[in-house]
Formats: sequence, structure tokens, C-alpha cells
Amino acid sequence: MAGAAVLGRLTWLEATVSDLAEETPTTRRVTLDVDGWDGHVPGQHVDVRLTAPDGYTSTRSYSIASAPTPRRLELAVARVPGGEVSGYLAGPMAEGDQVEVRGPLGGWFVWRPEEPGPVQLIAGGVGLAPLMSMVRARAQADSPAPMRLLCSVRDPASRLYARELAQQGRQPDGVDVTWVYTRGSENGALPRRIDPHVVQDAAFAASESPTCYVCGPTGFVETAAALLVDAGHDPGRIRAERFGPTGGRS
Ligand SMILES: Cc1cc2nc3c(=O)[nH]c(=O)nc-3n(C[C@H](O)[C@H](O)[C@H](O)COP(=O)(O)OP(=O)(O)OC[C@H]3O[C@@H](n4cnc5c(N)ncnc54)[C@H](O)[C@@H]3O)c2cc1C
Repeated sequence: MAGAAVLGRLTWLEATVSDLAEETPTTRRVTLDVDGWDGHVPGQHVDVRLTAPDGYTSTRSYSIASAPTPRRLELAVARVPGGEVSGYLAGPMAEGDQVEVRGPLGGWFVWRPEEPGPVQLIAGGVGLAPLMSMVRARAQADSPAPMRLLCSVRDPASRLYARELAQQGRQPDGVDVTWVYTRGSENGALPRRIDPHVVQDAAFAASESPTCYVCGPTGFVETAAALLVDAGHDPGRIRAERFGPTGGRS
């Protein structure tokens, strides 16, 4: 049985682009319909493979932003300047186009709604994608797990899923969301990067023993994880996903 599950994750599946939306000026939301897709655990990612007419292929990893759903998954793709795969997924790709995916992949950076403890999410930019899956899965399962999200982006226009997260924040026992802007700001507040004060104000205290999920560019993840450790969080409860360069070409 386990062998069949592994084989399933390693099998390339045809995916049809069913919806595209510009989430921010630099990030596109990509919805894929995938026959044979059984769902995922929040936090997991897929490999996406593009194939050119001459047979040249290119593969990159993308986190799944949707709640677990059979036959459908949503990605958030940030355009990397000169990027081969993001340039296509967040560029000329159109609804109805086909790509291939395999997964779900990853077994450590995952959260299951039946886990009761507090959950601290910290995202840098598009690193919000797998954390959004956790936020959505919590709502889908009506999980009572306390959840806080601290998200660092360039400016208010760069907030991914802003409306949906605001709605989550308004629910009784909803997710507590804090935005930090590194450049532009809101309501006259000064731009800032996450620092010990931000962590102290916006995150669960170490004494509450949250499980922490940190995701974003490598430098951001290392800074945020170090701030959590400095604030007394158990390193064994900090899970990190780094969005460094991935994949290959052939
Ligand atoms: C587990 C995992 C999950 C990921 N999930 C997401 C996701 O949900 N959304 C998303 O947008 N990206 C995600 N990424 C990053 C993604 O896999 C690609 O690396 C990214 O889209 C760039 O690929 P590209 O083909 O466009 O660029 P490439 O053609 O590979 O690279 C172009 C140039 O950009 C540099 N570069 C490549 N990747 C990055 C990067 N991530 N940051 C800064 N510079 C880079 C390269 O060194 C090169 O100079 C994830 C990465 C990992 C490891």
C-alpha cells in the first residue's frame, strides 16, 4: 500500500489550467484541475513540469495554497525576473493550457487540522502560499486550533489573499493576521522588517508552545526562525520551508 502511495506521488499527472487571477502586481493565482489528484496535507507542494514542442522540459516546485480538495489545486506563483518557469506560469500561460504535476510532496512542513495546539504562521511574500492552505484547512475543518499569521510583504498592494484573510480575521475565533511592510506603509506607519518587537507583539509567546511554520525566501526564513529561537521558542517546534531556486531542465 505504502509503495502504491509513493508511486502515485512520483507519477506525472496532466493538469488543466482552469482559472488565473492576478493576486498582486507580481503574483498570479493559478488553479489547476487534475484528474487522479486525491488532495494533500496543508503545507505540501507539487512539482510542475513544462514541456516545449521540441521535448525540452523544465521542472520547479510550488506550494499548494488551496485547502485539501480532490481534483483541484491552487498555486500562487511570483514572477522571478528572467525566471524560466515562473515567467511562463505567471506570464503567457492561459486558461485551458496543460502542464504536468506530481505530488503531493513533503512530510515535515505540514499541519493537520486535528492537531489542537496553537499554530504560529510566519510568511515572507509568496511564502504565504502553503500557510494559506493551513488557514483554509482550519476553516474547512472548523478546527478550534488557535492560529496567528504574521506576514511580511513589500507594501499594502503586495498583500496576497488580503480580502480572504481580512474575512478570516473577522470571524469569532478567526485567524489573527498581522501585516508588516518593508517599503510602503499603511495609515502613516513606518516601514519595517520583522524584528524582536514585531515577534513579541504579533506572535504567540513561547510559553504557549505553538508549533511554528516559517516560509519564504531563504534569508527571510533564517531571520524569522532565529527571532523565534531568541524569543524562547523550542527549535524542535519550528518548521521551515525555504523558497530557494529549484528544479532543472533537460
Ligand atoms: C518547496 C518549494 C516550494 C516553492 N513554492 C513556491 C510557491 O508557492 N510560489 C513561488 O512563486 N515559488 C515557489 N518556489 C520557488 C520556485 O520553485 C522557483 O524556484 C521559482 O518560481 C523560480 O523559478 P524560475 O524557473 O522562474 O526561475 P529560474 O529560471 O530557475 O531562475 C532565474 C533566476 O532567478 C534566480 N531564482 C530562482 N528562483 C528564485 C527564487 N525563488 N527567489 C529568488 N531568485 C530565484 C535564479 O538563481 C536565476 O538567477 C518554491 C520552491 C521550493 C523549494
